[in-house]
Amino acid sequence: MQEQFYRNPYQRTLTTRVVRHDEHGLVLEDTLFYPLGGGQPGDTGSAILGDVSVRIGDTRRDRESREILHLTPDTHHVFAAGDEVTLELDWERRHRHMRIHTCLHLLSVVIPIGVTGGNLTEESGRLDFNLPEGMELDKASIETELNALIAADHPVEIIMTSGEALKAQPELIKTMSVTPPLELPEIRLINIPGVDLQPCGGTHVARTGEIGPVVVKKLENKGARNKRVVIALA
Ligand SMILES: [Zn+2]
Repeated sequence: MQEQFYRNPYQRTLTTRVVRHDEHGLVLEDTLFYPLGGGQPGDTGSAILGDVSVRIGDTRRDRESREILHLTPDTHHVFAAGDEVTLELDWERRHRHMRIHTCLHLLSVVIPIGVTGGNLTEESGRLDFNLPEGMELDKASIETELNALIAADHPVEIIMTSGEALKAQPELIKTMSVTPPLELPEIRLINIPGVDLQPCGGTHVARTGEIGPVVVKKLENKGARNKRVVIALA
């Protein structure tokens, strides 16, 4: 299966063929729908054949087969193998995910300490940091630094590498709870030149300026050393 969201996250429609459509979901030869993972929600949208439009309410990756499952809760078994369908992404929602996701990369630059977890929605995103004892975070200065990195409109580049090459640079792996799949022959790095470089499978905007202004909504204590930082699109 091809996965267009890795190389071209701006693609909104795609015509492809059905592999199968059963109670587990719709499997296609190709897709542009991002499956839930790395704290980013699965994409939603529609699969269209003639005047039949089937709602895709979520997208998941099967843990064993690694196939991408487009979940179509209301209408099982509509399509047959070989049917040509056109996918339409809920672009507004996905684009907000891309903006917030890219902003979380910048947040990991503004707060350069270990990340223990993260998550995002259409409205907001959070990272949990493994805060060293005695270290304090300042909400206002985080917000100022974050918006400065956004306003500088840095390019965001995709670099393909291998698990072997990444093993030689373990310092690039910031998220301690989510080790990238080093056994895979191909791993994607997200490079914001001079700012940040880390492996990531999510979807990102092409320039940081596209994120737009953000606010730091809150700093929360989640355990003795775990500090949660929540940001939102302004
Ligand atoms: Zn990312």
